Amino acid sequence: MKKIGALEAGGTKMVLAIYDEAGQELERLTLPTETPDITMPPMQAFFRDHGIDALGVGSFGPLALGEADPNYGAITTTPKLAWRNYPLLQRLTEGLDIPSAIDTDVNAAALAEAEAGAARGCRSAVYVTIGTGIGAGICIDGRPVHGMLHPEAGHMLLRPHPDDPLPRGVCPYHDGCLEGLAAGPALGARAHGNAKDLPDDHPLFALEAHYLAQMCVNLILTVSPEKIILGGGVMQRASLFPMIRRETQRLLGGYVQTEQVLSGIDGYIVPPALFPVSGLYGSYLLGRQALAQNV
Ligand code: ADP
Ligand code: ZN
Repeated sequence: MKKIGALEAGGTKMVLAIYDEAGQELERLTLPTETPDITMPPMQAFFRDHGIDALGVGSFGPLALGEADPNYGAITTTPKLAWRNYPLLQRLTEGLDIPSAIDTDVNAAALAEAEAGAARGCRSAVYVTIGTGIGAGICIDGRPVHGMLHPEAGHMLLRPHPDDPLPRGVCPYHDGCLEGLAAGPALGARAHGNAKDLPDDHPLFALEAHYLAQMCVNLILTVSPEKIILGGGVMQRASLFPMIRRETQRLLGGYVQTEQVLSGIDGYIVPPALFPVSGLYGSYLLGRQALAQNV
């Protein structure tokens, strides 16, 4: 039985696992994300000691993913300075002669949800995590989507709401981008506290739903996915789902006439089914795809 290593590399923690080819998880190790000097040796040891046959990585980014790019598999312009330009995949596979693949954490999660989760049976799915930041992954026909880089839809520009006390948002790169307007810290900045502590009926959640609905509209109009999956800390606030669905319909203005966005919207904009392992399971799937391509 072949063993497939999986790593979900996050800004706060690293989750490593060993899977068998059938997708059964055999082992797991969680480590805090410190500097590469501290965090890499135990990760390298874990994969080496388990004698893995392939490795899949879903990582925070941005990442160098162009196949011809000499930096393929490196983390690039992350604000986490110790990891900037760090050749993550290369260092993890050093000395191991195995096939491997890397993608963004959200592309991995989109792949997992499309293969075995909320978007099972769909040809296309978007997975968005709304937490400390916002990241979106797109999976079409079993493949995470890439282009010039990888999707960075978390920073799409939105139309500020006239009643927003913070209409430019908090992103250091862009005025009025999705992450700057709607990630947890933006909610927190408007509330002068933690979004977690607000009551469900706080007006900030109507504003939040409005922005996330603008995002859904933009995704619907550009990608036309068969499913939109919303995860992450902010979406633990389950009361946001019906608000986002209603607002998405309102903003679409009847222009898109599909069953999914009309009567079927409760089953169209949904939470992840594999929470909290979407990204980890997706990393395993990336490793399994690399293994299959190698034989
Ligand atoms: P990360 O993005 O760092 O992995 P999470 O996905 O857990 O972390 O998201 C953390 C963010 O989610 C914080 O900004 C927090 O305020 C927000 N959050 C967590 N739970 C809730 C909740 N029930 N309602 C609203 N916001 C929440
Ligand atoms: Zn931005």
